[in-house]
Amino acid sequence: MSESVNPQLRPEMAMLPTYKAGKKVDSVNGLTAYKLSSNEIAHSPLPSVVAAIVDAASEINRYPDPFTTRLNQSLSEKFSISTEHIATGTGSVGVCQQIIQAVAGDGDEVIYAWRSFEAYPIITTIAGAVSVQVPLTNDGQHDLTAMLDAITSKTRVIFVCTPNNPTGGIVTQQKLNEFLAKVPKDILVVIDEAYVEFNRDKDAIDGIATMKANSNVGVLRTFSKAYGLAGLRVGYFIGPKNVADAVRKTAVPFGVSNIAQVAAVASLEHESELFQRVDEVIEERRWFESELAKLGFKIPPSQANFVWIPMGERTEEFTKRSEGIAVSIRPFPGEGVRISIGEHLALERVIELAKEFVF
Ligand SMILES: *Cc1c(COP(=O)(O)O)cnc(C)c1O
Repeated sequence: MSESVNPQLRPEMAMLPTYKAGKKVDSVNGLTAYKLSSNEIAHSPLPSVVAAIVDAASEINRYPDPFTTRLNQSLSEKFSISTEHIATGTGSVGVCQQIIQAVAGDGDEVIYAWRSFEAYPIITTIAGAVSVQVPLTNDGQHDLTAMLDAITSKTRVIFVCTPNNPTGGIVTQQKLNEFLAKVPKDILVVIDEAYVEFNRDKDAIDGIATMKANSNVGVLRTFSKAYGLAGLRVGYFIGPKNVADAVRKTAVPFGVSNIAQVAAVASLEHESELFQRVDEVIEERRWFESELAKLGFKIPPSQANFVWIPMGERTEEFTKRSEGIAVSIRPFPGEGVRISIGEHLALERVIELAKEFVF
């Protein structure tokens, strides 16, 4: 068989950045390995959620409900909004892809802050659309004024990630309101609230209320973080009816498994138990931030389940050294490291290491 000519790909394929998933490190010198690189919850799932999953396993010879009816019903009750506004997908990354495919095609523009969630550029490029990346301010905040200035006649969607991944800061309701007042109503604004459950800042956006008050705003949420279901792939969009409808059309058929659906519904039923874990994470975050501050690190305050340490040029060295203590973290070369608030022992090791990186 001749191998000299390969099938042609779309030119966009060469432009796609390679997604670096949170790296798993090996145990070193008998040290237990910990993963603080993917912003997961360190706890195992609740027994009641596992029981629902085990129960649903006996039906996996059947296709799931493509309309995720029960889940949409639970969400509708939780947020007091009709199911017509709700669309689900395979994780909120899946939903994000469905949104962009529904609103942006060849040459259309997608605006988002940078640095922000790494899936935005990938998904935008796959859709054939163009990324317009607006740099964060020096203290890691969204520059909403610059984002307004970036709007053109080709803009179709603007992502606002709050709390922002990887810097952890929030956008205030007041700033968002001023922004929304100036965004043309035919442009969709998506508030990515993957970490909203970890926010304790009263001035932060209330995404659902904002969505209800604006005809061009939608909210993106996930069961992967606070609800601890990262491995099951289920997230959702709540937004304008016509967009929710289109987001259902661009979904991978039967993408959200029945197991994911029952686990999500069970998790909503056991929210108070899950949110106790979220409270613990927040306590740990405060402790971790104060330890770093004591060492003299200037870190942006986080409202998420991770902390950003601007290590600059020392990012690679810090990351390499963290492998030596069997802790995986998420490096952004030349900029900084993002550390998920996971097991206390792992965070203690990171603090010990950080002591060697104080100027
Ligand atoms: C983790 C994350 C998501 C959600 O990911 P899924 O697991 O696909 O639901 C969405 N947005 C941001 C900013 C994230 O960090």
